[in-house]
Amino acid sequence: MNIEIVTIGDELLLGFTIDTNAAHLARELATLGVRIVRRATCGDDATAIASAVQDALERTGAVITTGGLGPTADDMTKPAIASIFGRGMVLDPDILAALEERWRKRFGHELPASNRQQAMVPEGCTILPNRHGSAPGIWLEDAQHRWVAMLPGVPREMRGMLADTIIPHLRDRLPLGGPVIRARTLRTANIAESALADKLGELARGVNGLSLAYLPGNDGVDLRLTSYRLPARETEATLTEAARLVREKVGRFIYGEGDDDLAALMLGECAARDLTLAVAESCTGGMLGMRLTAVPGSSRVVQGGTIAYANAVKVRELDVSQSDLDAHGAVSEPVARAMATGARRRFGTNIGIGITGIAGPDGGTPEKPVGTVWVAVDCDGEVHAVRAVLPGDRSEIRYRAAQLALDRLRCAFEHDQDAVGWTARG
Ligand code: AMP
Ligand code: MG
Repeated sequence: MNIEIVTIGDELLLGFTIDTNAAHLARELATLGVRIVRRATCGDDATAIASAVQDALERTGAVITTGGLGPTADDMTKPAIASIFGRGMVLDPDILAALEERWRKRFGHELPASNRQQAMVPEGCTILPNRHGSAPGIWLEDAQHRWVAMLPGVPREMRGMLADTIIPHLRDRLPLGGPVIRARTLRTANIAESALADKLGELARGVNGLSLAYLPGNDGVDLRLTSYRLPARETEATLTEAARLVREKVGRFIYGEGDDDLAALMLGECAARDLTLAVAESCTGGMLGMRLTAVPGSSRVVQGGTIAYANAVKVRELDVSQSDLDAHGAVSEPVARAMATGARRRFGTNIGIGITGIAGPDGGTPEKPVGTVWVAVDCDGEVHAVRAVLPGDRSEIRYRAAQLALDRLRCAFEHDQDAVGWTARG
């Protein structure tokens, strides 16, 4: 089943409110196998609402709207859509009674006149009860079974009504054993989209009939496999097999699935191996420590860290040698290594991680452009260092440097010291 979404509200067009309703609807309906084929947003304007919904109806015959069901003058979804169906508006005595009751009980006085509008509904509609707020939703359908479901704009109410009424209703309309939409995300770090596509070869465009999307973000590139055409009972096995094929090609860059957090995973690895850890951070200014300590249970692993921003601090607190700083500069392999080892020794841990880099926007040189980062991981005296030139602005470079460091730790655990994608570009 194909559905279009129309979200309604001036605040959405102005960008003051982010359209989370459309995203939620799309995600939830996908699990049923309902595909959202188009989304539109319009302001609180009857003509605009009518034309957006009419266009959508002509294409799919199935539309969900959110917003504009409230009691105020800018809430005109119901009459605008009723007009498309050639229906008038009538007062629904049950809604009116419920509203009057609600006002007496909750606010201790009579329903204000402006709220009576909430009891006006299109002729011949089905009323969708709203347990989560005062404005009920509306289902309007014509003789050709073209329908519009109108839901409130308040996200909590919209979500509640979707689950209570729309999803069960659509489930009844869908053929049993029909196709569903399911996805699996494999998370990669420190490798560029294009490098991933190269390594994936013929899988780059899709795997066993599943689509493969590349979703780059600050954590790295997520690879998302999506199944659109298979019935529910076949999707899990198909996704698992496709994920296996992808892992065969680029598994060394994959650190997790779904919304796995690399910091949490690494903390878990350390805990499982009974290892303690300390950090020495320059350009990330404590971000790695922050990400690690954000994970519950981190105190078993993380002992402490040093924000060694100034060279003098690197020397004084981490035993970085002044001669290395003079000869190679603060952003260099010997300094990163010395920071990692200094952190491990000073904090008495198994693992020390050092990060030093140029976050910009100033300070770059031809040899060490902005984004140049050295990361070193010292595991019980075995030190691995890596250089990368990270893309992005200052905050992205800092975040990616911390992610690179976590990924280096992962590589150390997996004994894969060559699995660095960014370095190839540096
Ligand atoms: P309404 O039902 O149009 O009165 O909307 C009530 C409130 O819900 C608005 O003030 C917004 O804060 C919120 N809202 C409306 N539409 C959306 C949407 N598409 N996504 C997220 N929030 C929304
Ligand atoms: Mg509104």
